Amino acid sequence: AAKGGGRGQFRFYSSDLKDGAKLRKQIEEDLRDALHKEQLELHYQPLVCPHTRHAKAFESLMRWNHPDRGWISPGEFIPIAEETSIIADIGEWALMRACTDAVEWPDTIRVAVNVSAVQFANDDFPQIVERALQNSGLTPGRLELEITESVFMGDPHATNRMFKKLKKLGVRLALDDFGTGYSSLAYLRDAPFDKVKIDQSFVRGSTVKGNNNSAIITAIVSLAKALNMDTVAEGVESADELQLVTERGAGAIQGFIFSRAMPQAEVLSRFAEGLLTFNPSGPAKHRADRK
Ligand code: C2E
Ligand code: MG
Ligand code: MG
Ligand code: MG
Repeated sequence: AAKGGGRGQFRFYSSDLKDGAKLRKQIEEDLRDALHKEQLELHYQPLVCPHTRHAKAFESLMRWNHPDRGWISPGEFIPIAEETSIIADIGEWALMRACTDAVEWPDTIRVAVNVSAVQFANDDFPQIVERALQNSGLTPGRLELEITESVFMGDPHATNRMFKKLKKLGVRLALDDFGTGYSSLAYLRDAPFDKVKIDQSFVRGSTVKGNNNSAIITAIVSLAKALNMDTVAEGVESADELQLVTERGAGAIQGFIFSRAMPQAEVLSRFAEGLLTFNPSGPAKHRADRK
């Protein structure tokens, strides 16, 4: 069965695992195996300043290099991992890996790590972050934790305590996929976010006339600025989208127009060549449009 049918429809698994619990157990086992066999990797996608074209940060994105099934995207296995205890282990691994990798980058460049609401609900999470920082030697201000609005579905007092503890460690907090969840303005008012990431569903189609997405991008950027938060436009693919989100004041751009996520080795070889900037690429017609 293809994905799309939602959870329990993991397309790399045979349909005889119809029983949801059995399927989860199998995937959990396979992921545990993947972790031990080093089949999990982090790839890094740049967040680029639209004016200087400098990479400000790279977001770590998990990849599962399965010996038989090839590359499996996190959109497929993270939601299932979140239903089992394995998310804690792969999440901790990712945090450690990302910090260790970022130590080898120029120290002007941050690393962003996605944190599941399940990890965020764990009281031990601040210690896990602290350990990753200490073991790697990464300056806390260079680590940015990306969380989604789903963390607010948990106990509000515990969530609040978690925010305080994390800020005390000196790490930065980003609200990922903003606009797709409940998007309560109270979250932005009360939680200590340093950055808001505008979900790619607003970027897609933002350049079409009569589309409301560009108005929403403008509004999110202005709200974030008023609250002293940085903004990132996610999923920027075309030159037209790049122009629009730049005009609307997005602080950074993340998207295929600049780069897809790449392995650490590629990041390091760019840096070794002194390449800290990214240039827009894409369909020739878009490039021609800009001239
Ligand atoms: P996300 O955190 O919102 O990450 C951005 C996603 O958008 C990535 O997908 C990235 O490859 C994709 N993307 C970036 N630019 C473009 C673009 O121009 N066009 C299009 N179409 N897509 C673009 P990816 O790597 O498949 O990750 C999907 C989601 O899986 C992530 O969404 C995040 O929620 C989750 N994820 C990835 N890595 C981790 C991880 O280490 N831990 C946890 N908990 N979740 C992760
Ligand atoms: Mg993210
Ligand atoms: Mg996102
Ligand atoms: Mg997402």
